[in-house]
Amino acid sequence: MSGTVLDGKRISREIQEELRSRIAALAAKHRPPALAVVRVGDNPASEIYVRNKIKACHDLGIRSIEITPPGNVSTSELIETLQPLTADASVDGILIQMPLPAQIDSDLVTSVVVDPVRDVDGFGVHSLGRLVLNEPAPRACTPAGILELLKRYRIPIAGRHAVVVGRSNIVGKPMALLLLHENATVTICHSKTPNLAEECRRADILIAAIGKPAAITASHIKPGAVVIDVGMNRIADRETVHGLFTHDPARLAAFEKNGSTLVGDVEPRAMQELSSAYTPVPGGVGPLTIAMLMANTVQIAETRLAC
Ligand code: NDP
Repeated sequence: MSGTVLDGKRISREIQEELRSRIAALAAKHRPPALAVVRVGDNPASEIYVRNKIKACHDLGIRSIEITPPGNVSTSELIETLQPLTADASVDGILIQMPLPAQIDSDLVTSVVVDPVRDVDGFGVHSLGRLVLNEPAPRACTPAGILELLKRYRIPIAGRHAVVVGRSNIVGKPMALLLLHENATVTICHSKTPNLAEECRRADILIAAIGKPAAITASHIKPGAVVIDVGMNRIADRETVHGLFTHDPARLAAFEKNGSTLVGDVEPRAMQELSSAYTPVPGGVGPLTIAMLMANTVQIAETRLAC
């Protein structure tokens, strides 16, 4: 058996194309939606993520504002620097790119700077509380994107057993709640779960959000399960990459050229051979996150401008 590829790039494009008419309507009636992104210091991964977010805004006609305080800023200086942003009513969504430098109290900055209405990536206490209650609020973009993908591929969720591996506040927990609200029976696993493989083998829908390359193997996958691989791990070790991609000469050739490759949390060959459908890495979950960020920005702008 070889599972169907769940094409996150295609679904991401679809979602973004559907936003165009809503953005045009807002621009014609009021103004374009606006997203502010705060990136503190010069973390190279954050630079790439933020660049991609700004580019997506630009492509869709969403106004973007990038604020880049230096990496040695203190918590109080950062809050003061961002005060004008908080006061600027023409900004619909405010996103603080994580991780912040170690000296900064991330929770305090987020709670002071990002008011609940403009919590575009849904990480705030208010948004998470509303998610628990199944009330409307911006949802964390990665889990929301995964739900959208499952729905657009018409993968049944209600009554099925979903196993989410990982319990972070930005992926695992919100994912489990979204699936629960869709009437799945949900198990959440983490690093202290005994018999992880056994728990995972009970899954009709298995979601891996661990941050450990290829940690989920054939022994974790029930044949025919839908497997969603959230992990994004950059690997440069030649032996590891050759071990994981013996079946994929194109990937090995690209690795030889670039010197590294992105690997998910699920062993790629096992996922392909055992699942009924799966998200590849790259090209699965990653592109959905940006699409949902754009969708959240537009949704917030519509709500704010309708008032
Ligand atoms: P975190 O590090 O915050 O959380 C990882 C979770 O996995 C924790 O709950 C941890 O358990 C659990 N875990 C770690 N090791 C094991 C193990 N061996 N067995 C079972 N559970 C384990 O990561 P995130 O949730 O932020 O991200 C997870 C992955 O998803 C990363 O690879 C990240 O890069 C990727 N990601 C991808 C995105 C995308 O757009 N594609 C967006 C966000 C994240 P415990 O709580 O007990 O420590």
